[in-house]
Amino acid sequence: MSSKPERISRGATPALRVSFEFFPPKTAEMESALWESIQRLAPLGPHFVSVTYGAGGTTRERTHATVARLVRETTLKPAAHLTCVGATRAEINEVARAYHGAGVRHVVALRGDPPTGIDQPYIAHPQGYQSTPELITGLKAIGDFEVSVSAYPEKHPQSPTLLHDIDILKRKVDAGADRAITQFFFDNSVFYRYRDLAAAAGLTIPIVPGVVPVQNFKQTAGFARRTGASVPAWLAERFEGLENDPATRRLVAAAVCAEQVIDLIDHGVTDLHFYTMNKADLVFAICHLIGLRAQGAIEQAA
Ligand code: FAD
Repeated sequence: MSSKPERISRGATPALRVSFEFFPPKTAEMESALWESIQRLAPLGPHFVSVTYGAGGTTRERTHATVARLVRETTLKPAAHLTCVGATRAEINEVARAYHGAGVRHVVALRGDPPTGIDQPYIAHPQGYQSTPELITGLKAIGDFEVSVSAYPEKHPQSPTLLHDIDILKRKVDAGADRAITQFFFDNSVFYRYRDLAAAAGLTIPIVPGVVPVQNFKQTAGFARRTGASVPAWLAERFEGLENDPATRRLVAAAVCAEQVIDLIDHGVTDLHFYTMNKADLVFAICHLIGLRAQGAIEQAA
């Protein structure tokens, strides 16, 4: 048998950095599942972990509580998502100040979805931040926040063209965005095309691919439809007939995600953002495969 490929052997990709995205839990049961996942993934030493903000600020308190607990009880660097939807500037500034006061120094700044649905035009709160660049400017005035923003390799559903989207990203960078994290995608060529277009537009901030391991194909496909991410026929075929076979589905999900991530690394990607859906196992396995090791395990082995 031939020796194992260099790219997935331990230490072959020392410059790799990963980040993990979680959502704030609704119930005590979900909360303990989230913290189990955080405990499992934390030893991998992520660059940062981010916590989403429910549409229209519906998780304002829960997002804050989760982020504050991350600061208090872990050495992880949390990033708090924040949207402009349905709130005045004063209210958003208060949330941002509370984060700063709690020791949070990284915000994922977003416009957010129209409260009436993504198929409706976005109407900003009359006293609110009118756009993501305005929010970024507001955040940078409040404190020394590192700011990440969204990017859409297959264009945002409300965007007329991909180039328009690149222009929106440029405005966010001009306002001070430090990094873009992409919507998830399955066909890596859309990411490479977006990266090339951004570079051609003179953008030099890191554009970090958002990767979603397919925990549940039907759910992921539905989510993809709403966010404008395409679901290739080959992906559907891979999960075909596995609706009642969770064990095989997980093996297939791991293989599909590994294939995607290894191809990204082969194309020069050094930072990866995982949409964990608050579940650790698949993400942990993929990280292991690309050479990341739990720090405790390294100490034990040394
Ligand atoms: P932007 O990138 O600012 O704009 C989106 C689109 O709106 C643009 O591409 C363009 O088509 C149009 N647009 C914006 N400004 C203008 C303008 N001045 N003129 C013309 N057109 C304009 N949602 C949540 O509710 N909570 C979260 O925690 C959350 N986290 C996310 C994290 C990531 C990494 C990503 C990729 C998305 C996330 N979302 C989240 C989803 C996001 O809120 C929605 O996609 C929303 O519809 C757009 O917000 P945005 O910040 O991406 O918008």
